Amino acid sequence: MLPWLVTTWQQLSALLSRDQLAHALLLTGPDGIGKSSLANHLADAILCTASSRPCGQCKSCLLRRAGNHPDLLVLDSSASSIGVDAVRQLSHFLHGSAQQQANKVVLLTQAEKLTESAANALLKTLEEPPKHSFIVLTSAAAAMLPATVLSRCQKWPLAAQFGDNTQQWLAHQTNRSVPDFLLAYCAGAPLKALQLIESGAADTLQDGFNSLQQYLAGAVSLTSCVKQLDSIAELTPLLGWFLRQQLLPGMLNKEPAKQLALQQLYSRWCRDEKQILGQNKQLALTAMLISLKRLSR
Ligand SMILES: [Zn+2]
Repeated sequence: MLPWLVTTWQQLSALLSRDQLAHALLLTGPDGIGKSSLANHLADAILCTASSRPCGQCKSCLLRRAGNHPDLLVLDSSASSIGVDAVRQLSHFLHGSAQQQANKVVLLTQAEKLTESAANALLKTLEEPPKHSFIVLTSAAAAMLPATVLSRCQKWPLAAQFGDNTQQWLAHQTNRSVPDFLLAYCAGAPLKALQLIESGAADTLQDGFNSLQQYLAGAVSLTSCVKQLDSIAELTPLLGWFLRQQLLPGMLNKEPAKQLALQQLYSRWCRDEKQILGQNKQLALTAMLISLKRLSR
């Protein structure tokens, strides 16, 4: 179990052992916090016929390990939306009898993709779940779910501590260096941070971050900063983070007009970024950085 999820896992397992686990659970938290990992482990535990923690030895656990447990349905959430058909499949599955004479589980990840009609269709099952059935939903954007669905699920917000433990965990997972700002940049999601480190994207972000700081401090030229930033694929999230974490906090006691102008500068960038390509992107970056320096003084 991922160390920052241990406490939540222990609570869920205790509820399961007392037959008090809610029939509809919603695990929430940023991408890369481990929602799927916990949801899968919980499914193992619910299906295990020997214990409230997956024993790894009963027939259910062996079926799970083989990846073909008949009492588990994992709904496909790879498309851009989850429609009524998926919810019908869920309902049909849960109303059938369990093949291992125990519980049935449905995993529904990225639940925010439910269409309005699919969410409505789901309400009835959430209200009157068949006996021994559990629906585990996950979402990184739970606020996008209809209130009717939210109110019928028990919510489990997942988070990692920003402290030394998580930083140490990250350092243990990789041979590469772990930039100080990365965990905060990833909204505290260690798996997301790890993925950025392993793909090399964290180094690129670190270089962009340094370049922005140095440009504003007058230590590197505008041209060199533009060149550095232009090479970053995910520039907009980096800019947003830099403004929120680095610039705005230092301006809180200064002119509100400047803070507003800074936010407007970023909003404009977000709005235009998809249309700005090639040579135009460097021009747009140059103009944006000049405004940024003026506003940050
Ligand atoms: Zn088992």
